[in-house]
Amino acid sequence: MDRQVTVTIDGRQTSVPADMTVLEAAATVGLHVPRLCYHPRLTPPAVCRLCVVEWEGARTLVPACVARVRDGAVIHTDSERVRRARRTILELLHSAVDLGEAPEILALGEAIGADPHRFADGERRAFPVYEDNPFYVRDYDKCVLCWRCVQACGDDMQFTYALSLGRRGFHTHIATFFGAPMPETTCVFCGNCVGVCPTGALKGLEEYLLEQGVPAERLWEEKQRFRPSAEA
Ligand code: SF4
Repeated sequence: MDRQVTVTIDGRQTSVPADMTVLEAAATVGLHVPRLCYHPRLTPPAVCRLCVVEWEGARTLVPACVARVRDGAVIHTDSERVRRARRTILELLHSAVDLGEAPEILALGEAIGADPHRFADGERRAFPVYEDNPFYVRDYDKCVLCWRCVQACGDDMQFTYALSLGRRGFHTHIATFFGAPMPETTCVFCGNCVGVCPTGALKGLEEYLLEQGVPAERLWEEKQRFRPSAEA
């Protein structure tokens, strides 16, 4: 039988398997810890830091998606320190990224009082929209670098490794090797990356064209111009 440990989360004591994450342990007592990069079908990359919690005795806040419980731990998922950290992360995201198609992130920001204009003078991330294949478009102005698409493309789902991270710091972005158009990569157009993207940065071509005002009855014709064989 799995070794059990006893932890107290937001004042609720619970006994859980020793290999559980804080995120999972919190769920056993009915607590939902906010998260962004975490996806139940993917390995948590722990990059967004929205799920941080306060662990009594720890110097820093701890990412709940990867931190494992320990016997006797006392954890706070919604303290003022935690809320302040989450607010700042969301405010910084607002300053640089177009979150207009990320309703869950917007709702979370509203719930914890994040000010979308706090860093209004900040530099915004700006990329061209990549319309380079007949299946989906990539609009990295909307990308929060959650890394879900990279993992879905790699070890967690498709094992095709068409996507990776490019450049450094503020200019980090999701990229293909040498910036190649998608049809020239290992991509098999499975759609898994689109399915796990939380912000609309990756979008099916039909949805994109409809949003661009293409009438539904003209979709088929319009899509032909994205086929590699139709390229000049
Ligand atoms: S494109 Fe979407 S899934 Fe990929 S890192 Fe950006 S926000 Fe995450």
